[in-house]
Amino acid sequence: MQGTMMRFPLTLAHLLERARRLYARSEIVSRLPDQALHRYTYREFHERTLALASALQRIGLSRGDRVATLMWNHHAHLEAYFAVPCAGGVLHTLNLRLHPSDIAYIANHARDRFLIVDDVLLPLYEQFRDQVSFERVIVTPLSGGEPAAAGYDDYENLVAARNAPILRDPDENDAAGLCYTSGTTGRPKGVVYSHRALVLHSLASALPDALAVSNGDTVCPVVPMFHVNAWGLPFTAVMLGAKLVFPGPHLDAESLIDLFARERVTLAAGVPTIWAGVLQALEKKRGRRALVQGMRLVAGGAAAPEPMIRAFDKFGLRVVHGWGMTETTPVGTVNFIRRELARLDPEELYPVRAKQGVPLPFFEVRAVTDAGEAPWDGATPGELQVRGPWVAASYHDLAAERDKWTPDGWLRTGDVATIDSHGYVKITDRIKDLIKSGGEWISSLDLENALAGHPAVQEAAVIAIPHVTWGERPLAVVVRKPGHAVSTEELRRYLEPKFAKFWLPDAFAFVDEIPRTSTGKMMKVKLREQFRDWRWD
Ligand code: AMP
Repeated sequence: MQGTMMRFPLTLAHLLERARRLYARSEIVSRLPDQALHRYTYREFHERTLALASALQRIGLSRGDRVATLMWNHHAHLEAYFAVPCAGGVLHTLNLRLHPSDIAYIANHARDRFLIVDDVLLPLYEQFRDQVSFERVIVTPLSGGEPAAAGYDDYENLVAARNAPILRDPDENDAAGLCYTSGTTGRPKGVVYSHRALVLHSLASALPDALAVSNGDTVCPVVPMFHVNAWGLPFTAVMLGAKLVFPGPHLDAESLIDLFARERVTLAAGVPTIWAGVLQALEKKRGRRALVQGMRLVAGGAAAPEPMIRAFDKFGLRVVHGWGMTETTPVGTVNFIRRELARLDPEELYPVRAKQGVPLPFFEVRAVTDAGEAPWDGATPGELQVRGPWVAASYHDLAAERDKWTPDGWLRTGDVATIDSHGYVKITDRIKDLIKSGGEWISSLDLENALAGHPAVQEAAVIAIPHVTWGERPLAVVVRKPGHAVSTEELRRYLEPKFAKFWLPDAFAFVDEIPRTSTGKMMKVKLREQFRDWRWD
């Protein structure tokens, strides 16, 4: 049929221009390394973002080129979030919590051309600089110290030159962002976000029955901007002209509470570990400056326990539980109370609120068992499979993982879930054996492989054990070679140089054998059962 609607691309360039047109006076506040607060308006944000886009083009950025960031959450990172994709590039956020050699592997796999790095993170960069070859390294002088040393570009110098960038209108299907996940097995996998996916994700996740973000909100992404685009909140907030508040490197509970109170934050997002810390601090010291009543705490990345949701209610703070993954941009389901449940007593609603939520529009879910799709009865678990316009269709430059997608085009999440008759998804388990500590993955396989290298170790399995603060922590179960002795301390020292500190198992248990399946695979399920009553001291 002829004569329908305009072809109007869904791109981040529109959101940036909208920010200038409509929201020039909205504010952006960042906590700097010395705890001082940096503040400016969307007007300056817009000017500096264009200047950065132009500077990147001057130093040679072409369409599709990757620009890596190694940065905390703050205004300059937000500038990169928009400048890179609007200049035609792809913003690749590097996870600064990974082991330096893993960061190097990821930067090399992505073929990143440029790096933007916070001055306070240069010592981390120095640890892997001889393993990478960025053409330019741009340093943000966050701590207000000396200008960048020889060999580095100074971020502030670059944005001081106010040349207009050549904003070739990107196509909505162009790549805009890139984020690696440690996923199920060994090697990290890259997920490429298109402009279109980021825009649709912003629209859907801002809906009232999702994160309910609006112009009147003050939004604080505590979740790192290197963790799936801080769940899209920087894009969503800019789209709506909300006030943005960034915590910089200060993620401890006291600093966060202080920031929320000072800046009157109405919506913050982070992993349950962050909220567990905030809760503890609130419970310890009641006479503190009040937080905004009704403030929403978006919790995702791992399950938000029901007792936590209850406890925050007592402080007038509302936990909003959501589920997502790197492959899903990330928000897929968000918890809200549906109208047919609204009459229920608040007590009866807690188990509902602890579920991972209802799928967003255009995000489809199903739970699949060996016998086909599970009924939506809230009782039959199956593998959660999803599809939608912000779900990855493949990994970046990695053919080996094709079986992550079903032949009929759904993503296998690796999570086990039930779906109830109202459409609430509840994650009951994980098929994969990874450990999630404080929202960050720890690969059991990598640890096992390393342990197996110790001369006194016959075999080792690493499993996740629930932990009050971190969600999960690794326990290493080790079989010693006959006639060999090895202590916990020795094994720990053996692993130390190979892994980031938070990866190291908190404890080692010595056993005679590890249960195996008929095909010789370790039966982690059985092992987890064996250590079900394990308690961290
Ligand atoms: P990532 O790609 O690192 O964000 O990890 C995604 C995985 O985190 C999911 O597949 C789940 O296993 C887990 N996850 C995310 N959100 C939740 C949640 N609300 N409850 C339980 N697990 C979650």
